[in-house]
Amino acid sequence: MGKEGFERVAVIGAGSMGHGIAELFAMHGYEVNLVDLREEILREALRKIEKSLGIIGELEEDIGEILGRIHPTTDLGEALEKADFALEAATEKLELKRELFRKMDRFLPHEAILSTNTSSIRISSLAEVTSRPERVIGTHFVHAPQRVDGFMPPHFSILLPLVEVVKTDFVLEEVLELTVELMKGIGKVPEVVKDSPAFVANRLLVRGGLEAYHALEEADPYEIDASAIYGLGMPLGIFQLIDVIGLDVALYILEYLQVELGKDYSPPEDLKALVEEGYLGQKSGRGFYDYSQGVPEVKREDWKTFDPLRLLAPMVNEVCGMIQKGITNANQVERISSLSFLPRGIFSLAEEFGVGKIVKKLEELRPRGEWYEPSPLLRKIGSFSELQA
Ligand code: NAD
Repeated sequence: MGKEGFERVAVIGAGSMGHGIAELFAMHGYEVNLVDLREEILREALRKIEKSLGIIGELEEDIGEILGRIHPTTDLGEALEKADFALEAATEKLELKRELFRKMDRFLPHEAILSTNTSSIRISSLAEVTSRPERVIGTHFVHAPQRVDGFMPPHFSILLPLVEVVKTDFVLEEVLELTVELMKGIGKVPEVVKDSPAFVANRLLVRGGLEAYHALEEADPYEIDASAIYGLGMPLGIFQLIDVIGLDVALYILEYLQVELGKDYSPPEDLKALVEEGYLGQKSGRGFYDYSQGVPEVKREDWKTFDPLRLLAPMVNEVCGMIQKGITNANQVERISSLSFLPRGIFSLAEEFGVGKIVKKLEELRPRGEWYEPSPLLRKIGSFSELQA
């Protein structure tokens, strides 16, 4: 039993993320009930977990013992009836998740905590359908899923540490503390964030992703990704990252954000078309890149003239807007960005270019859309260090 007193965890959804999360809990000694809709999905999840445990190596136990703690089932009620902590990692669709939360509430013991790995959905809109909103919390594992059959860069595997623990207005302090401890107990670095659409890390990534998409008019994915990797120090290029995450997941996130935050987050028309045609990224063998001959390499030479400020300036503007609205603060943004997509830390990186160049790039792009309008906060500061004081 973990020191938080949890013994049995239920993970609902055994897809890209769910199977990795189940693996992590089992590696740390928890009994895990893993739920999905069909037996074959669960079989595939267990195959991937076994393969991943083999790749991770240096485990303190036999792989068989860890696997023995994972109990796959298609019966949600059975999976939940004795669980202390339930983590929902099903498809990123609001109504589907609301329906699941109603059921989780019905089947789970009264004292159990309900959490979700949603990338974008406000936790309060899930908490409100339950009879215990004070026991509902977000646990957003900020890493792309592991891809044991394709490309699993170690820095983006289940071992990447950041988890955004999302705090609603009604969650009990005790539930927040227990969840933070639970995340630490499975080797994570929790960062408590406010309950706002897409939280912090994904607001950053979404803006970068949309910008990369718009930039396809001037460069191809190889060049844009090379500029992100070699110019901004990102561990993966933005298109590589979307291919690992899943174009379908990216589309669902944008569809939700469009409703919540407005048209500046609308999914591009051709992203919808790509998803409909089965370009889901690595999981379907094709996305922005083609994986039929292995994983394509993005090389330094692919970067010719594309300006990485085209990606960085809108991301900086996005987080400055969030800081201004009180959704987050600069120190938190720096921690979250450096533990996820921008290891150098977004403000440290932006400082290398300077506020003036960031604002100038936004002004240059401004005729293309309102979201490029430099935030008043950006116009006010002379240096990014002023934000972190
Ligand atoms: P996925 O499509 O790979 O997996 C979702 C799984 O949920 C599928 O196996 C599906 O069969 C299952 N499912 C759907 N309805 C269900 C139900 N009623 N009961 C049980 N299982 C059900 O998606 P994913 O990429 O693993 O994303 C899962 C969640 O994690 C989403 O909320 C997503 O936003 C979030 N997330 C994804 C990433 C990422 O990089 N893909 C990163 C962080 C968070």
